[in-house]
Amino acid sequence: MDLDRPLFATFWNGVIDLEHDSINRVIEKYERLIEEGKISGSKCHACTRIMVPPRPVCRTCGSTDIEVVEVEGQGRLLTWTTIYVGPPSYENNVPYTVGIVELTNGERLTGIVDIPVSELKYDLPVTAAFDDERQGAARLRWKKA
Ligand SMILES: [Zn+2]
Repeated sequence: MDLDRPLFATFWNGVIDLEHDSINRVIEKYERLIEEGKISGSKCHACTRIMVPPRPVCRTCGSTDIEVVEVEGQGRLLTWTTIYVGPPSYENNVPYTVGIVELTNGERLTGIVDIPVSELKYDLPVTAAFDDERQGAARLRWKKA
């Protein structure tokens, strides 16, 4: 998962009508959590649902009363696949494995799996980490818990 600032800012700007300072505060908190190696989500103040990755509109009730919050980066591996022909930004990393993890709060999140394929199994406990191989972006990686 790429967490690219301009893309993230455009996404939030285009969907919700927040004042510019509010958007900047949301993005700053989101980026700070990534720098600290933490996963973030958005918490809906109307119904308390926490969505991962952060979304500007609640998927349960449609509210835009949203706050970026830290989410526990622990979960269990649901499924995975190994990529042998990647997109241009990943072509130097092939082969690599991508997995879907169910977090402890029930949300599902995709990321690169940094565990040998021979050790992967359904329900394997994993923990989140971020690398910073590319300037301006961070990639989520799942490691053994
Ligand atoms: Zn809600």
